[in-house]
Amino acid sequence: MVAQDLPLHEPLASEVTTALIEFGQMSQHAGSAAFDALSTLASELLKRLVTLCAAQRGAMLLIGDLPDSLLKTSQASTIAEQTAPDQGLSHLGAKSVRTLALYAIREEEAYGLLTAFPAARFTSLDAQTASDMSCWITYRLSIGDIVAEQPLHALLVLGWNGLEDGTSVIALERCRALLPFVADAAAGVIVSILLAERVHELETAAEQHAMREADRLKTELLGTMNHELRNPLAAIKGYAATLLRHERRLSREERHEFLSAINQASDRLETIIEQLLEMSELETGEIVMQRAPVDMVHLAQEAIAAVEARAAEQLPGRFTFKLSVEQADGTPAHRVPLVSADLRRLREVLDNLLENAIIYSPGGGAIKVVLRPLTHLQAASAAGSYAGVIDLDKDRQEGQPIDHAAPNMVEICICDNGIGIPAEHLGRIFEHFHRVDTRLTREVNGLGLGLAICKRIIELHNGSIWAESSPGEGSKFHVLLPITNVGAEE
Ligand code: ADP
Repeated sequence: MVAQDLPLHEPLASEVTTALIEFGQMSQHAGSAAFDALSTLASELLKRLVTLCAAQRGAMLLIGDLPDSLLKTSQASTIAEQTAPDQGLSHLGAKSVRTLALYAIREEEAYGLLTAFPAARFTSLDAQTASDMSCWITYRLSIGDIVAEQPLHALLVLGWNGLEDGTSVIALERCRALLPFVADAAAGVIVSILLAERVHELETAAEQHAMREADRLKTELLGTMNHELRNPLAAIKGYAATLLRHERRLSREERHEFLSAINQASDRLETIIEQLLEMSELETGEIVMQRAPVDMVHLAQEAIAAVEARAAEQLPGRFTFKLSVEQADGTPAHRVPLVSADLRRLREVLDNLLENAIIYSPGGGAIKVVLRPLTHLQAASAAGSYAGVIDLDKDRQEGQPIDHAAPNMVEICICDNGIGIPAEHLGRIFEHFHRVDTRLTREVNGLGLGLAICKRIIELHNGSIWAESSPGEGSKFHVLLPITNVGAEE
């Protein structure tokens, strides 16, 4: 018989209605309650059920094959966690029990009751009389399988102190009449509490993960800063102190060597400080891109010539450089549309990428810069999954139709055959201070800010930057930039 079919007298009916409204509010409240308020909510629910049934004692237990997430709540809670005693509860089909709330009863007493009434086969309502003439009802609330993969039950245990004067008998009858009507709503409150707990648990785990990640980054950053700032500073101090103390005893050549070392270390410090300042300015929006039509072929030629001259001086014969202009299909292209860019910042990006290509190719090799005019669709397909979500349309004037046949973007690709980058670092090398920890990177000076600066600059141009690489085989850094205006340079 379903609850609605049971006869319910008028006074009881109004109590049921009040309780149903209250339980509905409790369910809603659970969703927004703080983690430590959830146990209070469970206690309130039990207290309400105890009062409704005019009982004096009560316990609300979660019973079944409880998963860890329901047994172990991440924060200290007044909701006790217990594993059922080995024996005694098998008749309830329970592997574990968790106390949700207690009212004027101790936990052991509540568990004792479950084992003391072996006849209670976990049916929906069992009344038992104990040796001291107290009377107990166990009532099963089904809480479905929303919070666990299998159906769970909450067991409500209500107790009356004595049967001598007959009041308890009346109360017991009243309980039998009332409980079926409010059971679903009470179970609903418990489900809401358990779901809210789960949400809190997941949020805490996410926060802890973020905190661990932040801690790791902080340590990484401190380590890098320590190394990068201390080394040149130590060199400056060391050489300067020696010069001061032994100036007369040093030869002219030695003095020159020491001063050159001081000069180099100061340059290094200056670069670090400039990079830090630039990053901070880019982040705070203090730097505004001065965009104008830029001839990428010319800019790339200049950047390559500069890096080639440096490489020829410092690492003669180790590198070859090549610039090619191609169509999307690899056939030669005759012209590249002008891009809309801040010339100085774009040159900075090219310098940085070319410099990295040299630094991370210790064996030397071929460094190739490819420029490709691309249509809207070709650009989207080139960026593919690497670029994440990019809005290739951002620069288009409102109302201006997309010409799918004409190039709208220019791709700049800088390829080397150096040490390459492991797949798990590909997305992260554009983060601030992220460096791949290899013997080479430990030897090479660097803050891990260059690519983060490049990314920021390219993003401020509504462009996109990403890398492809295979460790040991080399890397390709791709930059996509919108062109000035379709047809403007005709
Ligand atoms: P830095 O070079 O100062 O460490 P970057 O931000 O320029 O900082 O680069 C971040 C990291 O990305 C480098 O430490 C290196 O591990 C990796 N990296 C960048 N460019 C290349 C490249 N062309 N080949 C291999 N690894 C690279």
